[in-house]
Amino acid sequence: MNEANETREQFDYDLIIIGGGSGGLAASKEAAAYGKKVLVLDYVTPTPLGTAWGLGGTCVNVGCIPKKLMHQAALLHQNIKDARTFGWTFDEQVRHEWTTLREAIQNYIRSLNWGYKISLKEKAVTYVNAYGEFMGPHKIKATNKKGKETFYTAETFILATGERPRYLGATGDKEYCITSDDLFSLPYSPGKTLVVGASYVALECAGFLAGLGLDVTVMVRSILLRGFDQQMANLAGDYMESHGIKFIRQFVPLKIEQLEPGTPGKLKVTAQSTVSSETTEGEYNTVLLAIGRDACTKNIGLDKVGVKVNEKSGRIPVNELEQTNVPYIYAIGDILDSKLQLTPVAIQAGRLLAQRLYGGSTLKCDYVNVPTTIFTPLEYGACGFSEEAALEKYGENNVEVYHSYFWPLEWTVPSRDNNTCYAKIVCNKQDHEKVVGFHMLGPNAGEITQGFGAAMKCGMTKEQLDSTIGIHPVCAEVFTTLSITKGSGSNAKQSGC
Ligand code: FAD
Ligand code: NAP
Repeated sequence: MNEANETREQFDYDLIIIGGGSGGLAASKEAAAYGKKVLVLDYVTPTPLGTAWGLGGTCVNVGCIPKKLMHQAALLHQNIKDARTFGWTFDEQVRHEWTTLREAIQNYIRSLNWGYKISLKEKAVTYVNAYGEFMGPHKIKATNKKGKETFYTAETFILATGERPRYLGATGDKEYCITSDDLFSLPYSPGKTLVVGASYVALECAGFLAGLGLDVTVMVRSILLRGFDQQMANLAGDYMESHGIKFIRQFVPLKIEQLEPGTPGKLKVTAQSTVSSETTEGEYNTVLLAIGRDACTKNIGLDKVGVKVNEKSGRIPVNELEQTNVPYIYAIGDILDSKLQLTPVAIQAGRLLAQRLYGGSTLKCDYVNVPTTIFTPLEYGACGFSEEAALEKYGENNVEVYHSYFWPLEWTVPSRDNNTCYAKIVCNKQDHEKVVGFHMLGPNAGEITQGFGAAMKCGMTKEQLDSTIGIHPVCAEVFTTLSITKGSGSNAKQSGC
């Protein structure tokens, strides 16, 4: 009898994955490709307002996918405005129908949900729509929607339960506020909206809602985009502000009261300054909380098997093999302590983990220099260190920053904002001016940053950028002609219009 058969006799499965999102699905399919018997449990606990969705996790249902499609809808609004200057004429008044957009996006998501089910079936992965919870070593309980409990055992487990939006803990938050988990399938246009929070989710949602023509205010507790290059964060915020989004800075909501029910109704928000005793009030149709997300690690029986959790963050520490302190239990994706919370990171970690577990591979997930983009109205793409983090790591004398504002050609004819788009690289002078930080604020920054992310993996230096011939006329060519250093104090703005 070979090893695999022994395992199958002892346990129901070789591998059980709790969580069928970006990371869990990737790991399950990869493990099954090595002939392993794999079970994936995925269960969506409805939001306080009752919103739930299908297989695929956050990214597909309530994250990247609907967010990027709504961002695209907002960009089209701008394109419609620009079109007239390029000679297009149209008579009909331009209006946006929230329900049409929502339906189109939800239909696409349903097709993805279906596609995931089919692909799991094709790869012989067993999928059960049930909530997983450890009962003891190698044993879990799966509870389905109807409350039916089934018990399964496995040799190995991967935790991939992701995160869910946090609530304020203020009066009225769960009754009257929505989160990104509710927004993308909201049956009605949110109307005048207050977005609470100032990171990825908050700024992206505020951006596309305003781009769809809604009256949007962002309530910022401290700074924009904590952890990101602050010059870039503020430039992205300035663009939003100059395009009609209001910011209430250094305030947090104290209570949310309903003035009128409806779809949308009317809410009153009382907020408190974080720097004085001042309070302020405002009326909105919708309050969207985007104040961070909590790891789903509380109610999955980790105490029964002894998996350590960082008590402060609620996330799971793992070693470089994504192994928890319990050797047969691994964890990937958003629930990991001190790792990036991005879909491609979860997928890469899941695939490589399965290859190491079952394919004899030794490749580890590289969490360094992961490119990312914030899909604010003007996209902000980044890879590597922020300017401030580089200065702290290498010291002021060892860092050179090259930068330039630029004017996309397609913005010239419509006379759109000159000297708003911005490119910056942060170089380590002690290492042949290796680019350790890449930052771009401009149209299609996501598309552009991906390629430069690959170049940074290859150790791109300033000299190599200079010897790269640009593609003309595109925004990204600015990175091949950067000549102004911040240290020189020379003007990095484009002259003339
Ligand atoms: P998830 O995809 O969250 O999957 C976890 C799954 O496990 C869920 O289906 C959950 O319901 C299920 N589950 C939880 N507990 C249990 C249990 N006990 N039993 C069974 N099932 C359980 N990332 C990007 O890279 N680009 C973007 O543009 C981007 N945009 C985003 C926009 C928004 C609004 C949000 C909220 C996130 C965005 N992200 C983006 C982040 C991205 O969605 C996550 O990093 C990614 O989904 C993490 O994958 P995961 O597998 O760790 O968890
Ligand atoms: P986040 O990065 O944790 O940011 C939380 C924001 O809410 C911060 O601005 C924080 O302000 C504010 N906040 C926290 N508590 C608050 C309170 N009680 N009152 C008011 N404001 C409060 O969370 P996130 O935006 O939800 O993003 C989660 C993760 O999802 C990100 O780390 C990212 O990896 C991923 N994501 C990626 C993308 C993308 O790739 N484009 C898009 C969306 C999400 P302070 O700065 O004051 O703490």
